[in-house]
Amino acid sequence: MSEVRFVNVSKEFEDDNKGKFTAVNDATFTIEDKEFMVFVGPSGCGKTTSLRMIAGLERQTSGDIYIGDRTVNKAHPKDRDIAMVFQDYALYPHMTIRENMSFGLKNLKRPKEEIEKKVSEAAQILSLENLLDRKPRELSGGQRQRVAVGRAIVRNPKVFLFDEPLSNLDAKLRVQMRMELSELHKRLGATIVYVTHDQVEAMTLGTRIVVMNQGEIQQIDTPEELYKNPKNMFVAGFIGSPPMNFVRGRLDGNIVQTVEHALVVPEDKLLKYAEYQGKEVVLGIRPEDVINIEHLPDAPAQNVIEPVIKIVEHLGSEFLVYFGIGEETIVGKISSDYHMEVFKKHQLYINMEKMTLFDPQTQMRIG
Ligand code: ATP
Repeated sequence: MSEVRFVNVSKEFEDDNKGKFTAVNDATFTIEDKEFMVFVGPSGCGKTTSLRMIAGLERQTSGDIYIGDRTVNKAHPKDRDIAMVFQDYALYPHMTIRENMSFGLKNLKRPKEEIEKKVSEAAQILSLENLLDRKPRELSGGQRQRVAVGRAIVRNPKVFLFDEPLSNLDAKLRVQMRMELSELHKRLGATIVYVTHDQVEAMTLGTRIVVMNQGEIQQIDTPEELYKNPKNMFVAGFIGSPPMNFVRGRLDGNIVQTVEHALVVPEDKLLKYAEYQGKEVVLGIRPEDVINIEHLPDAPAQNVIEPVIKIVEHLGSEFLVYFGIGEETIVGKISSDYHMEVFKKHQLYINMEKMTLFDPQTQMRIG
């Protein structure tokens, strides 16, 4: 079993000015065997520190970490049966690719035949066979990245740890490497823990995702759940591009009254919002739920607004259109089959079937 478990794990750093600083606060979760778990969040949220604690490169201040069925609280990194792929790949420049990939196993004093077999298997999986006698500087960024992964594969670890491995690659190569990593995960059936600040990377790679902010785990879920049912405004605003729109309003009967519009809440949702009747709420609407009414077969009778469009961005198959509701700027993702003109009024349907409501104080989702 290659699961990784955190039980009430915290990490504090001594800070020169402020005293103690909590980088990870009371984290409890289980990364299941064979799972591809992605840690995502803004810079400084504690995701790398979490990964480094699994690796043993950082010791937790409190709590327990398990790999498989044993605690690794005091285990040295080399005794944790993990392999880490770093952002800068950390290849040895003076060694050939073959030597780089063999290095870990040589250190473990494994037999020569076993090392050769494992290196050639990994090279085949990663299409590196023709590059084994080159030096790292003779390789492209994507190839170097594959060597770094190859070096991890040959060790056949319980858990693979990846720290932003694609951030040094250009956009096109990143997409390609993303697919390769996904395939690799399926092929190896390995447990992978992966850190990124890029929510698109997280959504495309992760079987589950840990969203972190300021040292706190916000939500752990599948990509689909995070998108459809974000627990709070932070997750709703972080996952999805462009992010969810937030509009302040008041819940009155079956209406969310914003400064400009009375938007009708679907009947089946009202029960779960009952406690918030007469209270301030934050309405969350995804950009794709702002729809040009020309796109709809039947003209809707309600939830149609007619704002002046401030900005239109062309994305090819879609437009991003920006308009205001009171002080708030709203973005809609509209099919480019329809003509959208800046500084003109357009009729837009707000799909309240997909709405989310949040408590403005706690910022938690209601219902
Ligand atoms: P990034 O995406 O920028 O790498 P991150 O989410 O990976 O961010 P961490 O590297 O885990 O963030 O850092 C979390 C917090 O802990 C940050 O505020 C960072 O400054 C602080 N921190 C990390 N390492 C140390 C250290 N060795 N000493 C003091 N503070 C540290």
